Amino acid sequence: MKVATFRVGGERRVGRIDEGRQTVAPFALTAEEAAEGVLALIGREPLPRTLSPLPLAEVALEAPIPRPRRNLFCVGKNYHEHAHEFASSGFDSSAAAGAVPKHPIIFSKLPECVIAHQETVRIDAGITEAVDYEAELGVIIGRSGRGISRERALDHAWGYTIINDVTARDLQGRYSQWLIGKSQDTFCPMGPWAVTRDEIDLADTSIKCWINGELRQNANTRDLIFDVPSIIATISAGVSLKPGDVIATGTPAGVGIGFKPPKYLVCGDVARIEIAGIGVLENPFAGAGAGAGA
Ligand code: MG
Repeated sequence: MKVATFRVGGERRVGRIDEGRQTVAPFALTAEEAAEGVLALIGREPLPRTLSPLPLAEVALEAPIPRPRRNLFCVGKNYHEHAHEFASSGFDSSAAAGAVPKHPIIFSKLPECVIAHQETVRIDAGITEAVDYEAELGVIIGRSGRGISRERALDHAWGYTIINDVTARDLQGRYSQWLIGKSQDTFCPMGPWAVTRDEIDLADTSIKCWINGELRQNANTRDLIFDVPSIIATISAGVSLKPGDVIATGTPAGVGIGFKPPKYLVCGDVARIEIAGIGVLENPFAGAGAGAGA
């Protein structure tokens, strides 16, 4: 099942996507329930009934969880080729620990930087000159847990989405903690919607990213250094995971910093990320003062 959060007639709704018909059927939810996006459906059995489908062209998609309740968990350097390209870039404040990490590198992004499919990522030239893209599979947690085993980990995943872990490389390198470089306003495009976990085969899911039509990242989730069950087990060992938590699982090789010279994003660029079984997340980049967000 594909589930979108969207606006229509000034109201936030959550609905079931029918890609073939290009429609979305809103679930019968109160405005208060719909305010949390797809989180309104997590743990609900049976699901609320759906209302008459609306043409997708007539709604404005929002991020599936427009404002997560707490920071997004993220994994750094989680594909082999990317770990090497980043460690040799000169901007990796974790490089001393080796190119390929022995344990997952876990950092976070602030919930306020989440934006939707087609919303604009702001490049503030007075703050950063090295904005980069990172195509990633996002996991949405559905069931609370602490000390979750690898074997039971996927029972705690409700579904998946696409995340662009937009990063200011210069800020990431300047501060040993990555939070500032990763959490600039608008730096977390998420969407276009979420899919339930049965829609994705983690052993074989392609992940691609184009910048202005040029294919830059082309990988498969089978190439993850730390797979999704390992990530869930690592985080939850002593940190309770909660429904609605989002985990960005890391980006493959082909980010801008990996090119010589680096190919940073500039105003007018468009990043398009496709993950098989989910869809396409596309966002334009523009100067400060333009576009969406807070
Ligand atoms: Mg990342």
